[in-house]
Amino acid sequence: MTYQPTALENAAAEPVPGADELEGGFERLVHPAPASTEEREAKIAKMLFGKDYSDYQAHATWTVDEGWHHKVIEPYGSFPMDPASAVLHYGQEIFEGLKAYRHEDGSIWTFRPTYNAARLNHSGRRLAIPDLSHEDFMASIVGLVRADSEWVPDVAGSSFYLRPFTFASEPFLGVRAAHRYEYMVIGSPSGPYFEHGFQPINVWVEPTYHRAGPGGMGDAKTGGNYASSLLPKVKAHEEGYDEVLFLDAATDTNLDELGGMNVFVVMADGTLKTPKLTGNILPGCTRSSILQLLRSQGKTVSEETIPLQWLLDGIKSGDVAEMFACGTAAVVTSIGSLTGAGFRVEIPGSDVTKALYDHLTAIQLGQLPDTFDWLYRLA
Ligand SMILES: *Cc1c(COP(=O)(O)O)cnc(C)c1O
Repeated sequence: MTYQPTALENAAAEPVPGADELEGGFERLVHPAPASTEEREAKIAKMLFGKDYSDYQAHATWTVDEGWHHKVIEPYGSFPMDPASAVLHYGQEIFEGLKAYRHEDGSIWTFRPTYNAARLNHSGRRLAIPDLSHEDFMASIVGLVRADSEWVPDVAGSSFYLRPFTFASEPFLGVRAAHRYEYMVIGSPSGPYFEHGFQPINVWVEPTYHRAGPGGMGDAKTGGNYASSLLPKVKAHEEGYDEVLFLDAATDTNLDELGGMNVFVVMADGTLKTPKLTGNILPGCTRSSILQLLRSQGKTVSEETIPLQWLLDGIKSGDVAEMFACGTAAVVTSIGSLTGAGFRVEIPGSDVTKALYDHLTAIQLGQLPDTFDWLYRLA
């Protein structure tokens, strides 16, 4: 059976110009007071994920008359927002997440950025937000990373996390798609995700709440799905669990994904499975990359409906060897236990998971050949 790429994978495969050609697509404004070398180095040294931001941000505005315009790389900072801005009331917002990595020779690269460009539009269409061209998306990333190049850490395992997002900024309380949007990218130096080694996480299988349901926004990367996942996450944290695994909202019997990561099951016979994309599951770039990597290695990996009961039985019988979650932030995380209403199972293995983590991060850091053409040079 030959593998059919998804519409998103096809859109991501469309070529984009190189960084030198795209630089200037977002005009760099003068920063009156960038962080001093000491301030910057202190922040990079701490590398608190999502707490410290770099000197600049990318910003563009969309209006009905002008489309996307005023594309700039401007000093990072807050700006006035009308309290009637539509996003504050109806949540019309989408986002992306990707990383810039410094390679051994000092050059700066990112991983499959056109997948993020394509997915931003995929999410945007579900939320009636206008498309941004892949060229504009790439120019914003290139412009920001070049302006903030000194913020890209060179510590092993660290990166410069990039957060593109678009939101409805029109001040209007009527319920309809807004007539004005802001697109922005902010960046944050982020440290190695596994400071204390490769630690398996304990996952709560949520029996009551769902993050998304049939016909909803489950396959769009939007704040609303995160908002709906927070209460179950808070409750699970209180009980000592690291993450929540959501079941499908239609039958409550099959695996969907974690609040922000896709999941895979590794069988004892060496084959792998991941929930198929039903429309309720976010089509992760890491998920897509792992599928391609495994298939290229000749491994049998299937996208299918995975019933929770089948999984629990398989873990007990030993047919299931490992389970892991994957996403840009952590890359790959081993799941060490599943607990839910009336059950707890331990999943001891993590060899295949660890090997995948090592393989993917080695590609990202330029330590293995980029045979899939996944890397894009930013600077
Ligand atoms: C972003 C995200 C993922 C992971 O996607 P990647 O592209 O691999 O980072 C998985 N699930 C949800 C709900 C997400 O928002």
